Amino acid sequence: MTPLPLPSDPPPLFKDLLVEPEEARSILRPQKDERYGFGFALSPYRGCGHGCRYCYVREYPNALHGPADWGGWVAPKLNAPELLWSQRHKLHEARVFMASATDPYQPLERQYRLSRRCLEVLLLCPTTEVILHTRSPLVLQDLDLLRAFGDRLSVGLSIPTDDDTVRQTVEPRAPAIPSRWAAAERLAAAGIQVTIGVAPLLAVHDARAFARRARASGASNAWVGGLRLLQQDPFYKLLADHGWLKVLDPDYKEGIRAAFLETFPPRRPKREAKAEPVAPPRGPAARQPGLFDRVS
Ligand code: SF4
Repeated sequence: MTPLPLPSDPPPLFKDLLVEPEEARSILRPQKDERYGFGFALSPYRGCGHGCRYCYVREYPNALHGPADWGGWVAPKLNAPELLWSQRHKLHEARVFMASATDPYQPLERQYRLSRRCLEVLLLCPTTEVILHTRSPLVLQDLDLLRAFGDRLSVGLSIPTDDDTVRQTVEPRAPAIPSRWAAAERLAAAGIQVTIGVAPLLAVHDARAFARRARASGASNAWVGGLRLLQQDPFYKLLADHGWLKVLDPDYKEGIRAAFLETFPPRRPKREAKAEPVAPPRGPAARQPGLFDRVS
């Protein structure tokens, strides 16, 4: 692999961001995801410039600074692609989540291209499945690379509300909601599997219209995930101040989830869809659950 030249100084775009490049000691973290099962989490950055105000990662023990500084620092793992290459033997028929504790397409990726270079390694691991999660249309800068994976890569776009004024309060540094819809459309039009993650669920203006918008984007699936607050989380006060405490109510989540289930009904095995069996039944077909089969 030929490493791309790395910037010696953070570019002006990141002047309010403390950039602390580091050499990582490990890059693949075993993880069990409640939706996707067992796999490896791969985070090319520590910290996240999106700095979402609810982000539970801000209190992770490996954070370089305190929760109050979340979003103000990022540590690019400069050796991430080379480290990944050295550990590719672990990836046979494995699943890689990119990323569970950072956004792989946060603004710094425009300059450092660490996510891209990790993807280039993963492309050379032909039995590895890749699940990307991002809030950013910056993912489109790698569209050709993503397409090269075929059906072993999917992209999850987090769109936790249909109301960009809510986003401006809660995720002020993350890309606007309309730009995320546009990204979903371009990815889907390019033949890439897209899932909309309504997560963590925030205040929603019109659940049914929201679900229809998700469907119209070309996404093949969607899921709804609840908000995870820290102990004595200051985000609780923000919710209270804006009259958004309803997002913590299980019935509220259930209502949004029902609207998405209407629009993205669970897929059924083809055999079940037959009205009359043409031959004596031999029992139910064994079927692995699909990655995007359900709205949760
Ligand atoms: S984009 Fe994800 S990792 Fe980054 S701050 Fe927001 S929730 Fe946290």
